[in-house]
Amino acid sequence: MFDTLKRWHEQRILDNSPYSKADWQQVAGHIAILDRLTDDELTKLIQLATLFLHDKSIQGAQGFVVTATMRQSIALQACLPILHLGLDWYKGWSSIIIYPRSYVSDNTTVDEFGIVHQGQQHRSGEAWLRGPVILSWQDVKNAGVRDGNNVVIHEFVHKLDMLNGRANGFPPMTKGMDASQWTIVMQAGFDDFVRHPKAGINSYGATNAAEFFAVLSEVFFERPSVLKEAYPDIFEVMVQFFGQNPL
Ligand SMILES: [Zn+2]
Repeated sequence: MFDTLKRWHEQRILDNSPYSKADWQQVAGHIAILDRLTDDELTKLIQLATLFLHDKSIQGAQGFVVTATMRQSIALQACLPILHLGLDWYKGWSSIIIYPRSYVSDNTTVDEFGIVHQGQQHRSGEAWLRGPVILSWQDVKNAGVRDGNNVVIHEFVHKLDMLNGRANGFPPMTKGMDASQWTIVMQAGFDDFVRHPKAGINSYGATNAAEFFAVLSEVFFERPSVLKEAYPDIFEVMVQFFGQNPL
């Protein structure tokens, strides 16, 4: 009964969407990493992205005006990781904030002695626990071109990671997955990456386990063969987790 109601509600949102199928296909046509999708998968991605835009608010900061095309581009890339997981994986928060370009963020940390360090850091994106996703349009604009960098996928994978608490590189497992296998494979990969950086994988992944998962997810969707070559075991557990194989 509940499922029927949910589907009816979703169908109403899809029927009343302000975006036409032709609009979506045009925006998708400019995102190279979507080329590999079958027609059915692209239709499913467009439906998810439509529901996503209904569910989330996207607002510009510093006077930046977010156009319909920008919204669609962000939604398509944000929904690629959850294509076979579903929109419920982005529950519990609703706001996306877009800066025109990379921005300076206060970076206040408390060290082990309780001393507060204040600093500033240039950022192209952020994901807050139960809070907003923040993106720089300049960086979003350059995403999706199969270069292995994708700020949208990066920040939204942090959101998947945060579904069971702070980002730590350990998201909730999907059906049939072995949590201990995920931990062993990711930990071994991280330990190796810290000592032996890999060509084609951003060294920012060596920051901690959460960044390792987010950076490797960018490579998984943008340049899957690079990830499979560097870390075949991680590639396999990611295929299981995302329920898709981009190769
Ligand atoms: Zn990150």
